[in-house]
Parts: sequence; C-alpha cells; structure tokens
Amino acid sequence: GVYYFHQRTQRAKRVTFREEVKHILEPFQLTDEQLRRVMANLNTEMTNGLRSDDEREKNDLAMFPTYVHHGPSGQEIGEYLVVDLGGSNFRVSHVNIEGRNRIRLNNKIFLIPHSLLLGEGDKLFDYIAECLQRFIDDNKLALHKPADYKFDLAFTFSFPCNQTSLRQARLVSWTKGFSCTGVVGNDVVLLLQQAIDRHKGLNIQVVALVNDTVGTLMACSSIYRDCKVGVILGTGYNACYFENVDNVPKWKGVRDQSRKQIVINTEWGALGKHGCLDFIRTSVDRELDESSSTPNQQVFEKMISALYLGEIVRLIIVDLVQRSILLPGRMQKTPSLRSDYNIFLILRGSFYAKHVADIESDNTEDLSVTSSILTSIGIHDPSYDDCYLIREVCRTVSLRAAKLAAAAIAVLVNRLNQPSVTVGIDGTLFRHHEKFKKNLARTLSRLVPRTHRLVLSEDGSSKGSALVAAVDRRMRETGFS
Ligand code: BGC
Ligand code: MG
Repeated sequence: GVYYFHQRTQRAKRVTFREEVKHILEPFQLTDEQLRRVMANLNTEMTNGLRSDDEREKNDLAMFPTYVHHGPSGQEIGEYLVVDLGGSNFRVSHVNIEGRNRIRLNNKIFLIPHSLLLGEGDKLFDYIAECLQRFIDDNKLALHKPADYKFDLAFTFSFPCNQTSLRQARLVSWTKGFSCTGVVGNDVVLLLQQAIDRHKGLNIQVVALVNDTVGTLMACSSIYRDCKVGVILGTGYNACYFENVDNVPKWKGVRDQSRKQIVINTEWGALGKHGCLDFIRTSVDRELDESSSTPNQQVFEKMISALYLGEIVRLIIVDLVQRSILLPGRMQKTPSLRSDYNIFLILRGSFYAKHVADIESDNTEDLSVTSSILTSIGIHDPSYDDCYLIREVCRTVSLRAAKLAAAAIAVLVNRLNQPSVTVGIDGTLFRHHEKFKKNLARTLSRLVPRTHRLVLSEDGSSKGSALVAAVDRRMRETGFS
C-alpha cells in the first residue's frame, strides 16, 4: 500500500513538473506570427540604417558600407597573409589564389591568453605581430623571397567597424566578450600596421580590412554566382549582402558605372537596442544581458549565437533548481549541499553551446549522454527526469535561436528579390550543430517562398578576405579605382 502510494505520488509529481517546465518554457516558444513581426522590424531597421549615418538618429543597425563592390571574377591571383580575429579561434593563414576555384590555404590557430582580451589593445596587436613572425618562420615563407619582399596582409576583424576605405576602419564597439582598452574609436588597420612596424624583421603591409561575413560571402560567391549573402552563425551572429548603391542614401563614396553594388555589413546582432524585440524577450534574456559586459548591446545576437546559448540554458536550469523542479528534494533535504549546488549551477560560462547541441540530440534510452554531460559540469547523479527536463530546455532554447536566425536571413532573401539566392554560411553553430541547422532550414523555407539554399563556406572568412584584397588589386591594376 505504502509503496503503491509512493509510486503514485512520484508519477503525479513528475507530471506536474513537466507541466511546470512547459509553462516556464512557453515564452521561449515563438509562433510564425511573432517571427514575421521580427522580420518586419528588422526590415525597417535595415532601411533606416542605410539612410543615415547620423548617430543621433537612433538606428539599431549600423549597415556599414564595406568598400567591396565586386565578387571575384575568377581572374584573381596572388599570395596573401591573413589574420582572422574575433571568432572562436584566432588564426593566421597563408593563402594562395591561383585562379578560378583554386585557393590554397595553410593556417595555424594560435591561442590568445584571456588576459590579452581584457588588457591593453597595443599588447593584443603586439601579440598578433609575434604570431605572424612565428608563422612566417615555421612555414619558411620568406625563404625564396627577395630580402626586401613585402607581404600583403588581409585582416579579418569580426567586430563592428566604421570603414572609410578598404584600409581604414574605426572600431565602434567590442562584442563577444572582447574588451581591450585603447581600441574603440581607433583605426584597427593602423593599430595592426603599427604593431607590425614595431616588430623588427616583419615586412608586411595591411591592405584590406574585412568583416568575417564579407569573407564568407566572397569565398562562396567565387563558387556560386547567385551567392549574394554571407552569414556567420558562430560565437556571434551577423550577415552582409550585396545592395544596390542606389538604395544606400548615406553612401558617400564614388558612384559610377563600375560600382553599382556594394556589400553592406548589416551588424544585425545589434537589433533590439531600442526595444523592438521586447515583445519576445524573456526575463532570462534580460538577466543575461544585464550581467554581460555590454548591457543593451547585441540584443538579437544574445538570443541566438553560440557564445550565449549555453548561458541561456544555464540560467533556466538555475531557475528550475531554485523552484525545486530540477534535482528536487536534494536542496531541501541536505541544506549543506545547497551552497555546493549553487556553486556548480551559478558558475557563469560553464555551460557551452556544444553541451546544448549534444544534449538536445541525445536519443539514448536512458539519456546517458545528457547524464554524463551534466556530471562533467558538476551536476552529479541527475535522475532520468532531471535529464529529460534539461533536454527539453536545450531543445526549446536551440529551436528559438534557429527560428530567429532564420527570420533574419528570410528578410535578406526577400530584399534581394532574385529568382534564386545562395546564402554562404560559416560558424560553429551552422557547422557542428545538426539540429540547429535543420531547424534553421525548415523555418526559412516556411518564411520565404523564394528559391534559396544555404551553403557552408569552408574557411570562408580567411580565404574570402584574401579574395577581397585580390579583387581590389585587380581593380586598381585595371584602372577602375
Ligand atoms: C560582430 C560582427 C561579426 C559577428 C560574427 C558580431 O559580434 O559584431 O562583426 O561579424 O559577431 O563573428
Ligand atoms: Mg570565424
């Protein structure tokens, strides 16, 4: 009798827990109607952003003109060094462009000590120069070159920059947790060039500054003619696209027959700065934002990109534990454990997007994948129910991110108004997170009837950066600019 009663209450509890979790996750479930409202708001902000540079006009989106007017023609050749800073890895590459679709790339990932990301900007740039020196030496790149040979370098710098030429770019603000001093407001091309020049023995000229989305677009459009959009879905979220110069009232550069189009870096991660996403933001989104180093910035990005997905899940878990829905009973029964659990669960940044991906696709019968991930981050001996609920949380948060990401891409596909559009995409979320990718594609197809395809752009941000420099060289040599 007692046992039966126990079982019954356990089952009843489980049902109520699942109901409660459903209720808590409700604000994270987005309808297509809500997504269409996000699309409309984003579209309005894009148009406003193209209109005026005036910082007093409160535009969400920077919509930076990038000084890139042409995709690769296939005629480009050349040898470039590329520095790629701002994604999940810092990389130095040696890129050889040898004609249509033939680009050889050799690269090395260097670790950036965390302290450098928060310290003085000059130290960060000095470190980059040191890595360049090591890379050139290790690969013997200078071996068969004349003594005074000068390398051309393309700088993939994945942060919002206000460009005044291909080689001049003022950093507007850091994103993604970077916060070196003395860089915001300055020309990052100059900062890198000066660090290189300080470093005796390096003979390098920085010839182009390129956002990672632009690199991705260039690399992909060298293969697909209808590729007009470049997207990064990784640590951050952003896109660029080819716009008609006529649609860019604020463009102050040359307007002529050879420059009818221009690549615009949307910086759409900043959407929501003035409240246009408030109708879908949850208390968790606000909490994440307020405890970040950049409150009220990159509001859209903070709901989507890999840097934040794990943190959103973690905050929901903490909430569920505090309500005794997750790990129930344990906190009350053993008050001494309470602080331990708090320590484990309240540790910021211990839950990664990779964990979200692995948990949400855990199809094992006993949820052993989930269980071992939870154990690895300090949540010991989770019950089947704990695992089940946490998988639910991961699925919901990841689906919301994929839907929002799709809504934004849908806006660009509509704006381009072409019979078919190829979207070049790179970034860890798109590359390694199967479910996310599926949800993204599915939502996009629902939101835009137009023909489109999503294509992975392999090493795009580095290869494409070299292509930007090569196209620029070709245009100058043929007397276009
Ligand atoms: C930056 C963008 C970048 C994106 C993806 C965002 O945080 O503001 O410039 O393209 O991350 O790396
Ligand atoms: Mg990258």
